[in-house]
Amino acid sequence: MSNLFYQAHGRKPVLDQARGVYMWDQDGKRYLDGSSGAMVCNVGHSNETVLTAMRRQMEKSTFGYRLHFETEASEQLATKLAGLMPEGLNKVFFVSGGSEAVESGLKLARQYAVATGQDTRWKVISRRPSYHGCSLGALAVTGYSPLTAPFTPMMQEMPKIPAPRAYLDGLDADDTATGLYYADMLEAKILVEGPESVLAFIVEPVGGASTGALVPPRGYMERIREICTRHGILLIMDEVMTGAGRTGKFLGSDHWQARPDIVVMSKGLGAGYVPLGAMIADERLVTPILDQGGFAHGFTYAGNPLACAAGLAVLNEIEMQDLCANAAVMGNGLLARLNGLMQKYELIGDVRGKGLLTAFEFMGDRDSKAPLPASLNAHQRFVDLAYARGLIVYSRRTRDGTHGDHILVCPPLIVNAGHIDEIIEGLDASLAQFSQ
Ligand code: PMP
Repeated sequence: MSNLFYQAHGRKPVLDQARGVYMWDQDGKRYLDGSSGAMVCNVGHSNETVLTAMRRQMEKSTFGYRLHFETEASEQLATKLAGLMPEGLNKVFFVSGGSEAVESGLKLARQYAVATGQDTRWKVISRRPSYHGCSLGALAVTGYSPLTAPFTPMMQEMPKIPAPRAYLDGLDADDTATGLYYADMLEAKILVEGPESVLAFIVEPVGGASTGALVPPRGYMERIREICTRHGILLIMDEVMTGAGRTGKFLGSDHWQARPDIVVMSKGLGAGYVPLGAMIADERLVTPILDQGGFAHGFTYAGNPLACAAGLAVLNEIEMQDLCANAAVMGNGLLARLNGLMQKYELIGDVRGKGLLTAFEFMGDRDSKAPLPASLNAHQRFVDLAYARGLIVYSRRTRDGTHGDHILVCPPLIVNAGHIDEIIEGLDASLAQFSQ
């Protein structure tokens, strides 16, 4: 009997070792990590360069509280990160995870508004479905009822607009009119709420767990940027999943002309080696806050040297191995192969993604887009079948958690064509078994 508790579902095998894209349990069974954990292990497992950097840092110091010491590791990582951001986003605030990064972004936006005499601005518009984290502030902007419903009395539910799921609405995502149609829902919401009350809009550039690799339609991101600017609203990019090369560019938002005011990152930054996240803000937001006494926010472990040394080594590995480019090339191949599976299996109703953030969605009927009945628990059953074959993939229910199933296929960015073959073989065999 374990003293741990996470979820209701059963116990899992005990992890023994992990190297590159593979993991082994204590019985010696090998798994291909087709989801990088939860889209975390971007540079693969047990990367020797990262481990060496961590060992070196551990031998020097593992913790220095940020109010007592500057550390070389945090300075270097901040400089490196700022260099990877759009021009002007050069103020970095370290945290230990994605929810903390989101909280930090929301609080920075609010403190900036207060510091600049815009006290009326406090609402943060987000999308439904979306996932921005499990702390109460991050939940307030999360559009995913199964996770928010039990806690609504404890939080301020923020306004939501629909995520642009063109494939469900029968619209052409390559047509700019589609992008504008969905983006203009933001403007409509701003007008309903009262523009002077709206502080920020938070968005995942490519949807993650909640929508299953949802790529915005053409024109959407640019129009979102333009609407935010026109109404004096800050644009927060939640790059917790998309950042650090996952979509084939360093930031997911780098694919569009939609410069964020604030970027939040985590998963691929610590890459499974350390708990690490970062909130990176435009200098113009930070200056008035610092002028008025500083940011009223901070976590004990923020910027600790071990986490930062690992993060720096991860970013160096992404650069040295050209992993953004590899994610783009391998992702294109993977997407094409997933489309091949869609030809073969009627059950797959949609395939989508960017770089190595890819997904397919099960449908009961392709024409009507009807989902499979929730009672089938299809996404979990499929994941279990693949897992039994030694392939790890990640699944969720889409459509606000009530029905619809998607499977995310997001291996480490170091994958090669042979690994993609192996993933497709595992999916094919699991789909065949599932369809019986
Ligand atoms: N934002 C997004 C887009 C995420 O995918 C996640 C994690 N799935 C979070 C925030 C929260 O990150 P964490 O679990 O590290 O708190």
